[in-house]
Amino acid sequence: MLQLVSSRVGQWQQRRAAVVVAAGCGAFGPNRPPLEGIEAFEESGSVEYLVTRKEEHRGKRVVIAGGGDSALDWVLGLHGVADKIMVVHRRNRFRAAPDSVKRMDALVEAGEVELVVPYQLHGLDGEGGKLQAVIVADLDDNERRLEADLLLPFYGLRMELGPIADWGLNLEKNLIGVEAATCVTSTPGIYGVGDIITYPGKLKLILSGFSETAMAAHAIYDLVYPDKPLHFEYSTTRGVPGD
Ligand SMILES: Cc1cc2nc3c(=O)[nH]c(=O)nc-3n(C[C@H](O)[C@H](O)[C@H](O)COP(=O)(O)OP(=O)(O)OC[C@H]3O[C@@H](n4cnc5c(N)ncnc54)[C@H](O)[C@@H]3O)c2cc1C
Repeated sequence: MLQLVSSRVGQWQQRRAAVVVAAGCGAFGPNRPPLEGIEAFEESGSVEYLVTRKEEHRGKRVVIAGGGDSALDWVLGLHGVADKIMVVHRRNRFRAAPDSVKRMDALVEAGEVELVVPYQLHGLDGEGGKLQAVIVADLDDNERRLEADLLLPFYGLRMELGPIADWGLNLEKNLIGVEAATCVTSTPGIYGVGDIITYPGKLKLILSGFSETAMAAHAIYDLVYPDKPLHFEYSTTRGVPGD
């Protein structure tokens, strides 16, 4: 939806219409490891950040990176499906549920899962986006090459503005700067309300979001109906519209 809006921002500016962005802190996205050329491997599906269908990974050699619950859930989830599972973590200790750690330790003990610790992801090797090996390195930069078909990094989530970041709006530290009185952004016709916006004295409260929405709606009325005066009324005196 936001992508669609992105492509139509220009049209909105010319019409008597407005877009109101109420995107909070943004959308959740995965923390991507900073590996050179990772985009090509992501596109081909050699690097993924979630598992939608386990069967797609049957028979693969899988490197799972991370030490939290998601990493261990998929070590256990892909056991018996993947041909080989290697777990890369920068520490010897894992921050996952104790039961998951215990179950993974048992698989390591049985030689069914390989622990690669303490190591960090260092590089990817392959051609045309097809992964051949994951390169890992320890704190002394000693490298190891793990032959693999799939890398699953589970490094947590981060907030992303998504397509909104490309709308050409005035951004201040991932927030949209607006005029406090109207909530209009630097682009006429585009307004912002709630946690996504900033202005001097901004408070991130539900109450502020409601107030900003009312102020934006008033400003937008003038934009959409420039020839129709706005009669400001209270529901207390006039009743709730539609009743
Ligand atoms: C722990 C905590 C406690 C709080 N307690 C209080 C309190 O007691 N009282 C109070 O007044 N305030 C409180 N707040 C603040 C309050 O929650 C926020 O001010 C309020 O929720 C902001 O509303 P919003 O609509 O702007 O954003 P959100 O409620 O964050 O809604 C934004 C929505 O937009 C979606 N979105 C974002 N980007 C995209 C995208 N690219 N594509 C699709 N969807 C997208 C998000 O998924 C989300 O559903 C608290 C906040 C936190 C974190």
